[in-house]
Amino acid sequence: MMAAQDSPGEGRLVADDFDDEHGAFLTVERVEGADDGPLAGATVAVKDNISTDGMRTTCGSAMLADYVPPYDATVVERLKDAGATIVGKTNMDEFGMGTTTETSAFGPTDNPAAPGRVPGGSSGGSAAAVAAGQADYALGSDTGGSIRCPAAFCGVVGIKPTYGLVSRYGLVAYANSLEQIGPIARDVEGAATVLDAIAGPDERDATTRHDTRDDLADEYDGQHPAAATTYADAADGDVEGLSVGVVTNLVEGADEAVVENFEAALDDLRAAGATVHEVSLPSVETAVQAYYVIAMSEASSNLARFDGVRYGQSGGYDGDWNETFAKAREEGFGEEVKRRILLGTYALSAGYHDKYYKQAQDARAWLKQDFDEAFEDADVLASPTMPVPPFELGESLDDPLQMYLADANTVPVNLANLPAISVPAGETDRGPVGLQLVGPAFGEETIIRAGSALE
Ligand code: GLN
Repeated sequence: MMAAQDSPGEGRLVADDFDDEHGAFLTVERVEGADDGPLAGATVAVKDNISTDGMRTTCGSAMLADYVPPYDATVVERLKDAGATIVGKTNMDEFGMGTTTETSAFGPTDNPAAPGRVPGGSSGGSAAAVAAGQADYALGSDTGGSIRCPAAFCGVVGIKPTYGLVSRYGLVAYANSLEQIGPIARDVEGAATVLDAIAGPDERDATTRHDTRDDLADEYDGQHPAAATTYADAADGDVEGLSVGVVTNLVEGADEAVVENFEAALDDLRAAGATVHEVSLPSVETAVQAYYVIAMSEASSNLARFDGVRYGQSGGYDGDWNETFAKAREEGFGEEVKRRILLGTYALSAGYHDKYYKQAQDARAWLKQDFDEAFEDADVLASPTMPVPPFELGESLDDPLQMYLADANTVPVNLANLPAISVPAGETDRGPVGLQLVGPAFGEETIIRAGSALE
């Protein structure tokens, strides 16, 4: 297990004269974008599970320590077209599996807003780079909270888009039915500006098709929702008459200091003209269990390609293919990744499929329904982003269950494929607090508007 004092770990491609005191980066390399565009002059750090043409992409894993993709992810291509300069690749939990960025094979990242504590995860390097001012913006990916958690812990803004708003082409898959790429920035308008650049249909990712349910097809005139929208314009702070539902199940049980800051932020929303009421969503009580069954099941399948032949490091053929694959995976994957592949394989195995995977899918359907009902009376739903302040470095590493439970407030959103934003909402003596606002599908403008009222 990597100790905090190893930071930054070995294997990083960061020049000695580059100031990376928090260990946010795995690779520092600059690529200039187009001469003009909405992001001209802006710098963007990219999470290391998003493919960059000619720039190493490790997923925080020894398995991919030498992997250099031959193409850009769609989001990277779009950032460059919008004029952004890419400044490098950021540290992350191995393959996105974690809540602290400590499962990275390259050592941890420190939290610039709360030194000695974790930056959150799995996009911890991205949030730290933005919080420390090393980049104007960053991209993260969010399978079960990995944009919102580090945004909350580092005191910055993060948006997890509706499933299908942003192309996943070039994102190395962890649990593909749950994850989206999204922006991290120091303010809501900045995050929305990056979202404008990356959102929209992509013929290379069929899940970016627009939602064809009748009501939405009408609303968007048959187009992809992003085509008709400028998200940055929504960051106007106007919440007059906005109805905010507080999900009581996600507040009860949270740390006292977190709840105090959360309540104070709700008062700010009221003062700005919003109305606040309580909502109970009983289905969220099953979300962590359902999430981990589904995420691990998908991971066991998605990570099968890393066998040292198709993808990943290998010591070379040693006379027996089974042995060769096993050795490559034994050496290439860390402890947390192995745990999840084993559990996911078990959950999907014949005889257990109905007991775990099917039940988890039922819970997922229940969650979607519960959220739909809550949105009949609320424009946005609010909760603390994380129930706890940032952990001390090293604190949660030996207790995976504690780490999984910290995801209680973020994973319901991924299971229901909804959009959510985390905005800074005060400080505890252990670091920043984030407030999460969840919107209906493709309701990004509403959560951006509401989030900007808290700045
Ligand atoms: N902490 C969650 C997990 O470990 C979420 C990770 C993510 O969103 N990539 O799976």
